[in-house]
This record gives sequence, C-alpha cells and structure tokens, in this order.
Amino acid sequence: MNTPPTFRLAGVMGWPVAHSRSPLLHGHWIGQYGLAGAYVPLPVQPGRVEAALRGLSALGFAGCNITLPHKVEAMRFVDHVDPRAKRAGAINCIVVAADGSLAGFNHDVFGFVESLRSEAPAWRAAAGPAVVLGAGGAARAVLVGLIDEGAPEIRLLNRTDSKAAALAEEFGSPVRALLWSERHRALEGCVLLVNTTTQGMQGHPPLDLELDALPRTALVSDLIYVPRATPLLAAAAARGNAAVGGLGMLLHQARPAFHSWFGVMPEVSAELRAKIEATL
Ligand code: NAP
Repeated sequence: MNTPPTFRLAGVMGWPVAHSRSPLLHGHWIGQYGLAGAYVPLPVQPGRVEAALRGLSALGFAGCNITLPHKVEAMRFVDHVDPRAKRAGAINCIVVAADGSLAGFNHDVFGFVESLRSEAPAWRAAAGPAVVLGAGGAARAVLVGLIDEGAPEIRLLNRTDSKAAALAEEFGSPVRALLWSERHRALEGCVLLVNTTTQGMQGHPPLDLELDALPRTALVSDLIYVPRATPLLAAAAARGNAAVGGLGMLLHQARPAFHSWFGVMPEVSAELRAKIEATL
C-alpha cells in the first residue's frame, strides 16, 4: 500500500510509555483537524535511545515527544538543541528536519506559562515575586518560563537545600535560593506560588506548607495533575486564592509540538480537557 505523501507520523518515546496520555491527545487533534497521520507510543528501553532516535528519519517520522526517563539523555543525540531547552536542561520534543537532522525543544516552558495565561488571565509574572518549590526537572522549566516572562524575583526552595542553591547559582538573578525551613515565611508578598515537588501527588503525602503568609491575591499553581485538586490547591481555593492545576500544562505543552509535526496550531478545547480528565 502506498502511503500518501501528506501522511505524518509522530509518537512519544519513553519507558514505560503505555500510561502516556499523549496518543489520546494528539489523536484527538488529528481527528479534529481532519489530518492524515498517526501518533503512536514508542516504548524505548534505557540505553537504546540513541539507536531509536537515529531511526526516526529512516522510519519517516516527523518527530516525537520524549518523556521519562529519556528527557535529559536524548539531548546528547540530537543535532540542534533549542536555547530554551538548553536552559531547561532537557528536551521533550524532537522535530526531524527535511535533511534528516534532529532538533530538540522543551515545550514544558510554553505549557506552564500558557496554562497560567489561559486559566488565570489576570496573572502577570512581572507583577511581583514568585515562590517556586522544588528543584527537579519541572522546576527548571518553570524557572525559564518565569524569567522570560519578566518575574522580578524568584524565591527558590527545595527540600534538599543544596539543589536549590546550585540551581539559583546556575540561573543567577532574579532566582534566589532560600532554605526549605523558611518556606512558610517565604510566601510573604509573593504574587505566585508554584509547587513543582511531587508532594500532593496521588500516593504521596500532602505538601508540608502553611499558607498563612500568602497574600490572598496570589495565584497558586500546582504542576501535579493526579489528583486534579491537590491538598495545596484545595487549601488555596478555600482561603480565596486563585488556583491552577497541572493538567493545563500537560495539554498546552503538546500544542507547539503538534504544530511542528502536523502544521496546525491546535486548541485546548473543553471537550479535549474533559476527554483527558476522564483518563486521570
Ligand atoms: P523530579 O525531578 O524528580 O523532582 C522532584 C522534586 O520533588 C524535587 O525537588 C524533590 O526534592 C521534591 N520532593 C520529593 N519528595 C519530597 C518531599 N518529601 N518533600 C519535599 N519535596 C520533595 O520530578 P519532576 O520531573 O521535576 O516533577 C515534579 C512534579 O511535577 C511531579 O509531580 C510531576 O508529575 C509534575 N510535572 C507536571 C508536568 C505537567 O505537565 N503538569 C510536567 C512535568 C512535571 P529533593 O531534591 O529534595 O529530592
């Protein structure tokens, strides 16, 4: 059977990858926009990432998402890394160019900022200090997003203080590391609080954080999307703070990737959100 020239192929490379919502997400858009294409799970074992990436072009892939545990390692095997992805220290999207070369991007940065923009339109990074909890991979993407959006001060705190200090040193101003023991007081005067730790995830204890010092006008963002209402988001909403969960970030990071492979910048509709929510 001949494949029509307009048929586009993309996927998500990870290990394990069966739980990924990305095939459902991209499949929804392929159907919605009437495109000829497919988006498939690509289970690739640790240690086989380079071989898998080298095969993308030969297999006719337009590109793929990269998920755990390959987000950092995959950077080594692409021909070009986008400057934002370099700063974020990981890639989550690869685009195969016409000459077969691979370019790596990190769309978690876009996804985070865009989710706040769409769910809390009044939020402005430049309006005041932000507090970011956690110093892992997600925190790096959040820092890049907040810096690029003009946050004047970012207070970074992590359970292992040395990791926050190292990240603050790497990023420089406006990122400033504070001690984890100072986290309750660190909320004073901030306009945004972001939880990038795993605390509050299903199966994990809630984040140990007192919100008394948090201004009621501050926006609270939790990157966790299972459960949808984390204890932090529930506590924030109960005291009147606007609160944004992590599902929007997951949905929005997929948009520029889809655009680069399929040529359409897709929308996050209520229907799509409900479809993905039903799987969580
Ligand atoms: P990661 O690199 O493993 O980092 C985990 C972070 O959680 C570290 O800062 C770690 O602190 C902290 N942590 C772990 N246990 C803790 C505890 N008991 N108390 C306080 N802090 C603790 O993970 P990641 O990739 O950054 O992901 C972090 C979270 O973001 C996950 O919940 C993930 O699902 C979510 N996420 C969401 C999206 C989205 O699209 N919505 C995208 C990416 C990630 P230490 O350094 O002290 O261990």
